Amino acid sequence: MTERVSAPETSGVRGSGGDLVVMGPPGVGKGTQAKALAQESGWIQLSTGEVFRDHIRRQTELGRRVKTYLDQGAYVPDDVTVDLVRDRLRSIPSSTRVLFDGFPRTVAQAEALDRLLAEMGRRVAGVVILEAPRDELYARLSSRAMAEQRADDTPEVIANRLDVYDEQTRPVISYYEDRGLVKRVNGVGRREDITARLREALES
Ligand code: AMP
Repeated sequence: MTERVSAPETSGVRGSGGDLVVMGPPGVGKGTQAKALAQESGWIQLSTGEVFRDHIRRQTELGRRVKTYLDQGAYVPDDVTVDLVRDRLRSIPSSTRVLFDGFPRTVAQAEALDRLLAEMGRRVAGVVILEAPRDELYARLSSRAMAEQRADDTPEVIANRLDVYDEQTRPVISYYEDRGLVKRVNGVGRREDITARLREALES
């Protein structure tokens, strides 16, 4: 579980309020970066992938329902994912910004998120896309597979996850681009440099 409330908003990324979305293909490092940004800014990071993995580890009912999808690198159905996000959002104070990490991943999820946030008097204020070439992503996911032995990091599953991203998640970028919310950030380089680029993108 990666919801965290850390130090008050002392430095770094500020904005006019509203919630933020970090998107990017598998292996680009969005989870690590989202964690760093949320920590330094006092936001709550809401990572659907982490929440699913946590349920699988704890062998909850939800964990049993979603395990096969994660193992195959397929997306969990929208209704299951949106229900989970709705539940989480209910426990977050309206004054605290949320950094969505790995959600929304389909246009239906993006539309559902807009509705959910509107009901709660919230809105998406900015979307950053972390980018890296496919070869680089493939290499990173393969080495993570060796290090962490994640079931969703086998060669076939890695290729599938990258394809699913192209097919289902790229349209979400267009969805937000049409509203002028998107900033693209180069996800290749030193970790701290990438965090700085993201911070700058979110500040502007
Ligand atoms: P991540 O940690 O963000 O790479 O997510 C790991 C896996 O969790 C994905 O490959 C999907 O199987 C599942 N998942 C995470 N977020 C979502 C989402 N927004 N919609 C559907 N499936 C998701």
